[in-house]
Amino acid sequence: MIDFVGAGPGAKDLITVRGMELISKAQVIVYTGSLVNPELLAYASNDAEIYDSSGMDLKEIMSVMLKAHREGKRVVRLHTGDPALYGAIGEQFKLLDEEHIEYGYCPGVSSLFGAASALKKEFTVPGGSQSLIITRMEGRTEVPESEGIRSLASHHSSMAVFLSAGMIKKLSKELIKGGYGPDSPAAIVYKATWDDEKVIYTTVKELPEEAEKNGIKRTAIIFAGDFLSDEAFSENVRSKLYDPDFH
Ligand code: SAH
Repeated sequence: MIDFVGAGPGAKDLITVRGMELISKAQVIVYTGSLVNPELLAYASNDAEIYDSSGMDLKEIMSVMLKAHREGKRVVRLHTGDPALYGAIGEQFKLLDEEHIEYGYCPGVSSLFGAASALKKEFTVPGGSQSLIITRMEGRTEVPESEGIRSLASHHSSMAVFLSAGMIKKLSKELIKGGYGPDSPAAIVYKATWDDEKVIYTTVKELPEEAEKNGIKRTAIIFAGDFLSDEAFSENVRSKLYDPDFH
């Protein structure tokens, strides 16, 4: 059996109970070493074979998993956060489907939500933005033209930008061109829920300076939107959910 498992955002105890149990039963574990906290491997049995996929290509990853599967071993493919976001699981699923091999899929806590907990913020604001855009800047991976930062920024919703800390200067410019005021609220969350987590509240204009000052080039989500300001959650605008007149 092969199980894809979301490792959570970093902290060892932010994996699901199911994910932890799958790790403890696995005889072979292939984990994304660049982002998964190695402390999670403490849940593995002492004789489990462990592979770090960060130095492996898709073919190598698949060949380790397929070989173990054919030997009747239990395999866990451990992905950071929740595998459904930028996890590149689709291509692995496809190859397993072609081989008619069944696999399980255990979700995880995305770093998106790890970051919300670090920020202590709600992405959706009563009386304000009711949408969260999850996106990335174009890098080696292309982004469809209609999903460029500038165009998405025009919605003025809450925004979470993954995989883009290394391009933060351009990101800041595009957010402003898209319509976020230069002084509108922004934040950088680096290594959410890890011991060396950093949370930086700033403005859209000052994102690049803050990233530079704090030495952040990767493993961060960059946020923009009014949900970051304290005023967004004012006395006057309360959720209907807890309104005493709402039944
Ligand atoms: N599937 C993962 C995302 C993988 S893409 C998830 O659900 O979290 C890798 C990107 O995720 C990084 O470039 C960064 O933008 C973000 N990321 C992963 N872990 C993070 C963490 N602990 N804190 C902040 N951002 C993180």
